[in-house]
Amino acid sequence: MTMTVQSGVTLREIINEAAKYEMALPYTPYWWGLTIGGLIGTGAHGSTLWNKGSAVHEHVIHIRIVSPAEQKDGYAKVRNLIEFQDEDINAARVSLGVLGVISQVTLKLEPMFKRSIAYLTKSDSNLGDEVISFGKKHEFGDVMWYPSQEKAVYRVDDRVSIDTPGDALYDFLPFRALPSELYDVNRNIEELQEGLPFAEGKCWFAKFVTGTLAHASYGLTNNGLPFFEYPIVGFHNRMQASGACLDSWENHLTSCPWDWRINGEFYHQTTFSISLSVVRNFIEDVQTLVRLEPKALCGLELYNGILMRYVTASNAYLGKMEDGVDFDFTYYRSKDPLTPRLYEDIIEEIEQIGLFKYGGLPHWGKNRNLAFVRAIKKYNNAKKFLEVKKKYDPQGLFSSDWTDQILGLKEGVTILKDGCALEGLCICSQDIHCAPKKNYFCVPGRIYKEARVCRHVEGQTNKISDMRDEL
Ligand SMILES: Cc1cc2nc3c(=O)[nH]c(=O)nc-3n(C[C@H](O)[C@H](O)[C@H](O)COP(=O)(O)OP(=O)(O)OC[C@H]3O[C@@H](n4cnc5c(N)ncnc54)[C@H](O)[C@@H]3O)c2cc1C
Repeated sequence: MTMTVQSGVTLREIINEAAKYEMALPYTPYWWGLTIGGLIGTGAHGSTLWNKGSAVHEHVIHIRIVSPAEQKDGYAKVRNLIEFQDEDINAARVSLGVLGVISQVTLKLEPMFKRSIAYLTKSDSNLGDEVISFGKKHEFGDVMWYPSQEKAVYRVDDRVSIDTPGDALYDFLPFRALPSELYDVNRNIEELQEGLPFAEGKCWFAKFVTGTLAHASYGLTNNGLPFFEYPIVGFHNRMQASGACLDSWENHLTSCPWDWRINGEFYHQTTFSISLSVVRNFIEDVQTLVRLEPKALCGLELYNGILMRYVTASNAYLGKMEDGVDFDFTYYRSKDPLTPRLYEDIIEEIEQIGLFKYGGLPHWGKNRNLAFVRAIKKYNNAKKFLEVKKKYDPQGLFSSDWTDQILGLKEGVTILKDGCALEGLCICSQDIHCAPKKNYFCVPGRIYKEARVCRHVEGQTNKISDMRDEL
């Protein structure tokens, strides 16, 4: 019931090899193109509140790590960290790469099982009330939230007996290889909508995108064939993750949507987890903003809305502090860093509400600079992590300015320059951090007055002073 792999092995290989022996890694990210070294290095996870939780590093029982050493010791020290024997394993589970090279990882597996999935679309009016009970009730549940459409799609996803009939395959549609021309058209439409600007158009298109995905069951099939009724049952290894676009044709006729060699998706991703104790308040704040600006979040829905997944408290020093819900926001990024996006201010306000009002923990492998402002202070065991770092790599050979900054060892996690807030390099404090020539000025948030966001205010400088006076 264990599997030992070298750190460059991909999630896809792990899932497939384990399945050959009728074993399964229970909770994983949804994209299988990640390596085990990289995904545990940043605390990557799937969705559950059950058992040991959704982060893969919770299922790691042994880590072999190589760190620098003195000449007399052959320049390298190899440590074998074993669960319950070496406390340092709690630093190495989520290491950000700064302790040394993880060369081998042993994972605890389970006997293969089946899952049953049904998607249930509801009004989002009770989302804040339902989110915790839903997570506790369904082992692999998650929620896709379309706030502008006032809808939430609950994934009712449970473990079922291995002899339940069904051979479902989850080949998530946005991870499939599609013709590069299609991505090109898609990107051009979004650039046009942003440039005009045409928020209404984004809302229509978002409904088309989310409707198409729902119609195609998000990529779930009955072993490649359509099916007509939920739930659908299949083996865990065929439903837990996907990434067919990795097998795109070499000539780039098809590709992954974010492939930089084509004119495809180009976006920011803000991802943080909010403790269960305040998740309802956070959801209600987002709903209040949507009531004030109903079209503001249509742009998120073009990227299939806000993905909400369950995460659990961890012993890893840089793992989650409490059980919570992880929110993924994916949104348009201009190729010109000085060009603001539509409703720039609303997404910035949500980002600051999540991170600062509710103390959200940023995903270490995603996010823009501002998410890491004082982030390390949110971890009770940060000091222990830094002690292990000092012991393993006293000279900081495996550190960079960036890792020192996010670990609070150096100043400069944010960068102040013209337009810096547009790219999330800073939180604006002056208009030049936004795009004043394009009428985007730095103002307080609408409901979270401590936030500072870049808002479009058409030619009304006195309005801006009014807003500042509110401070
Ligand atoms: C399409 C896509 C989908 C994603 N889906 C999810 C998801 O569902 N859930 C989720 O939580 N995250 C998700 N992520 C984020 C992802 O988990 C992180 O970005 C992850 O760190 C990337 O893994 P990688 O193998 O590309 O590692 P890299 O980006 O190469 O490395 C990430 C970090 O790990 C360190 N590292 C890598 N290998 C080693 C090693 N051998 N020894 C020591 N340190 C090492 C690196 O130094 C670096 O700090 C997704 C990312 C993408 C691109």
